[in-house]
This record gives sequence, C-alpha cells and structure tokens, in this order.
Amino acid sequence: MPTSGTMISLRRLTRCLEVDAMSETPSIRVECGMSVREAEAHARAAGLVLRSPTMFDRVSVGGALATGSHGADLESGCFSDSILSATLVTADGSVLEVSGGEELDALRVGLGALGILYAVRLRCQRAFAVFSEERWLDLEPTLEELPALARSVRFAQLWYFPFVDRIGFKGMYTLDAPIPTRSRGARAARWLRDQAAVIGGTTVMPALVRAAPRLLPSVIRSGGAIAVTPGARVSSAWHEFHFHQGYMRCWDMSFSLPLDGAPRALRRVVTYAERARGDGEFPVNMAVYARFTGASCGFLAANHGRESCFVEVVSARGTPRVEHHFARIADELLELPGARMHWGKHIPDAGSLRSRYPTLPRFQAVRARLDPRGVFLNRHLEREVLGL
Ligand SMILES: Cc1cc2nc3c(=O)[nH]c(=O)nc-3n(C[C@H](O)[C@H](O)[C@H](O)COP(=O)(O)OP(=O)(O)OC[C@H]3O[C@@H](n4cnc5c(N)ncnc54)[C@H](O)[C@@H]3O)c2cc1C
Repeated sequence: MPTSGTMISLRRLTRCLEVDAMSETPSIRVECGMSVREAEAHARAAGLVLRSPTMFDRVSVGGALATGSHGADLESGCFSDSILSATLVTADGSVLEVSGGEELDALRVGLGALGILYAVRLRCQRAFAVFSEERWLDLEPTLEELPALARSVRFAQLWYFPFVDRIGFKGMYTLDAPIPTRSRGARAARWLRDQAAVIGGTTVMPALVRAAPRLLPSVIRSGGAIAVTPGARVSSAWHEFHFHQGYMRCWDMSFSLPLDGAPRALRRVVTYAERARGDGEFPVNMAVYARFTGASCGFLAANHGRESCFVEVVSARGTPRVEHHFARIADELLELPGARMHWGKHIPDAGSLRSRYPTLPRFQAVRARLDPRGVFLNRHLEREVLGL
C-alpha cells in the first residue's frame, strides 16, 4: 500500500520451512518474502500445487496474500484463502501464531495493516492434470450466458479485445490422468508468444496510442489473435495456472463483481471503449480480462462472501488521459451492486471504498487489538480504506 513512512523488505526471507505432502490436508509452510514461483516449485517437488495462485508468479507470497490477489478457480476464493496458519510479527515486536477465528480472516487480506506476516502455512492440493482449451466465442451470446458458462468450468477466464465482436475463452477441466511433461517445442512456442506480447505492449502500443491512435483497432485485433490461439491440450495444472509469463509495464485496474453482475460490468466497459472511440480516444487499448473465483473468507477480500468475476482493464503506458478514463470507468463499475476494487492493482480516486466491505468493522476490531497505536497504518489506509 502507498506509504510516506517506513517500508520493511522481506526480500531475504525466502525459506521453505516445511512441506507436508502426506496428511489429508497437504500444505507447505514458507517465509513470506518468497516468490509465488518458488513456493509453487516447493509444492511441485512434493507432488502438490497451490490453490488460486496469481497468474504472474514473480510476486512475493506476502504481497499476493496481503492484497487479496487470486487466480481463476471457482472452488477457491483468493490465494490467501489457502492460509491454514500464519506467523505474525505484531506492532510491539511479539510473535503471534494465528490459526483460525476472526484474526485469521482479517489476516487473509491484511493490507499490511496488522503486522508483518513472517511465514504462512498454505493448504495445497495434490498435483493434477488438466484438459485446457482456448477458443473464440461470439461476444453477445457469451455475455448473456456468462454466469452459467463460468459455473460450468472450474477454471475459466475470458479476454475481450476492444472493437472485436468475439471474446477469447480459456477453460480448464481437471483430468484423472498422468501429468504430462511439457515438450521443448511447446515451451518455445509459449515463450515466443509471450515475447511478442511484451514487445508489442512495451514498444508498439505506447508509440501508437500517442502517434497513430486510429490504427489501434486493427493492432488490437492482431494482438487478440496472438493472445488467444484456439486449440486444446492436456497439461499440468501448475503450467496452466501460470500459462502467461510475458508482462510489460501497463495501466491495470481490477474490480470484483458478484458473478451474476459480470455481464453488466463487461458490457459497461465495452460500451465505454466504443463511446471513447467515437470521440477519437482509445483509453482501453490492450485487453479486458475476466476471471472467476469462489467466495473468500477474508474480511477485506474483494470477493468476500460471494462467487465473483474479476474484471480487469489493461491499457498501454502513455495512453493519453488514461487516469481520467480509468477514474470514469471505475465510477461506472463501482455503481454496480456489490462492486469492489482489487487492492493490488491501480486504485483510481473513486470515492469512499470502505462502504463496500461489509465486514470492515470486524477487520477494524482485529486491527485495533493487534496494533492499538496504529504503527502499521499510513495516510492512505487511514483515510481511504479504514476511514479513521
Ligand atoms: C505483472 C503483475 C501481474 C499480476 N498478476 C496478478 C494476478 O494474476 N492476480 C492477482 O490477483 N493479482 C495480480 N497482480 C497483483 C499483485 O499480486 C499484487 O500487486 C501484489 O501485491 C504484488 O506483490 P509484491 O510482492 O510486489 O507486493 P508488495 O508491493 O511487496 O506488497 C504489497 C503490499 O502488501 C503488503 N505486504 C507485502 N508483504 C507483506 C508481509 N509479509 N506482511 C504484511 N504485509 C505485507 C504491504 O502492505 C505491501 O505494501 C499482478 C501484479 C503484477 C505487477
């Protein structure tokens, strides 16, 4: 979270403390400075896989947990819903073991306001194979049936590329089959595809949005054709959870909507992009990405208490008036019932956020107990989030 105070780096706290692959609830216990990638590797070595990890696996375990980050899994909430227990260093320097109750549900999305998460035990699942398919679907009928489609596939995600009347769909289905290893050819193809996305997003898009915006619709269409390659394969769950590895700096904000509200939210973004194009502007110019999760127990989780669709808007660096447009898009989406922001992405100035989290008072009670002097607070948290 933004701060004008002190930042604590956990960069060197990267040990795996324990792996329990044999019990009924398999788990790993890791220090929170470890990256999701390293945690996944430790799990994998024991025949396990993390639950709802972030797609991008270079983030730290602590950062992904504290912000309510998530993957795409209708049977899991956020990544932090897999915390079985946590070791917290509190404001007075004492070490607290938390393994349930209100404290754990507050800690699941702690925003750094409760103390320093030193280590966590994460519930894992046994490694499994998935049948994974990508295809293009017609936009309108897909939006119409979106909640039913999402509920019919445990791991589902969608990409909308502005000004294209189709939408990319990726569905993954668990398979009771041996887990295949990925061939060199498949790895190379994946790498090339990601590099094309990074080069396009880092150089081509920022140049076009400023110098030749009228060319954007056809460039976005080509980008979509690279990002979504129709086909199917059997693969390992961990590869598919992190299938996209090419990232560039960009503008990115994400909203959680109750699952049944997802079609309205996506329609609003589609309409916004088209309206702006009519005015000669292209503020949504990379992709709109939708992922589906189950309900989270975290008091401040964006998907607390309900199945959700996370709608993510991604635009190139340098997009003219992008902050203005992102704030307007946020206004439109936050008007929808139950809409909440993802804490780990860009948060526009979108009015009070706190009224959206019905369990905020319970979070506050835990926070006041653990850190009565507000050592872990900062202005952003006090004013925008907690309303102190
Ligand atoms: C390229 C990219 C891809 C992403 N993909 C996804 C995705 O697939 N799904 C998704 O939901 N999100 C995604 N995110 C968002 C990302 O998960 C969050 O922004 C996350 O916080 C980044 O982790 P970090 O290690 O950089 O966190 P940091 O910036 O280090 O931490 C974020 C905040 O968390 C708190 N915090 C961190 N560690 C601790 C700790 N040990 N104890 C207490 N508080 C702590 C602090 O308040 C800190 O300010 C992505 C972000 C990027 C940059």
